[in-house]
Amino acid sequence: MPEDVAKRNANRRKRYAENREKFLAYLHKYRELHPEVHQDISSRYYGRNRAKVLKRTREYKKFHKDRHYAHFLIGAMVYFGLIVKPTHCENCGKERRLQGHHHKGYSKEYVLDIVWLCVPCHVKADAAMRDVLPELLPAL
Ligand SMILES: [Zn+2]
Repeated sequence: MPEDVAKRNANRRKRYAENREKFLAYLHKYRELHPEVHQDISSRYYGRNRAKVLKRTREYKKFHKDRHYAHFLIGAMVYFGLIVKPTHCENCGKERRLQGHHHKGYSKEYVLDIVWLCVPCHVKADAAMRDVLPELLPAL
């Protein structure tokens, strides 16, 4: 690799590390504003790397059995109408696409104990949990 390219990459990594929160917030906002672009990029990536994606999914399921079960269970319960997904984030109150946040971890007794959060609030909540209860939510 030419030296200037290596230097530029190092600078980019440094800027990313310094502004990680900002970059991620921008990325999430962009995804929310342009879901079709994100979907298109995702499905093209899947088309090119099907085996890799499926292998990663299998490994995730095996490694995080409890998480996978929790996400599957909530999804299925919403699908069959056993729980109703609200329309507004329980933290910031904005009307957005919501995710169930397992704020007490993924153990069987708390698997249905969820808070409905928008993606930015969920990212922040998970980060806070990782600091406070690292044993509940190991870093990815
Ligand atoms: Zn929110």
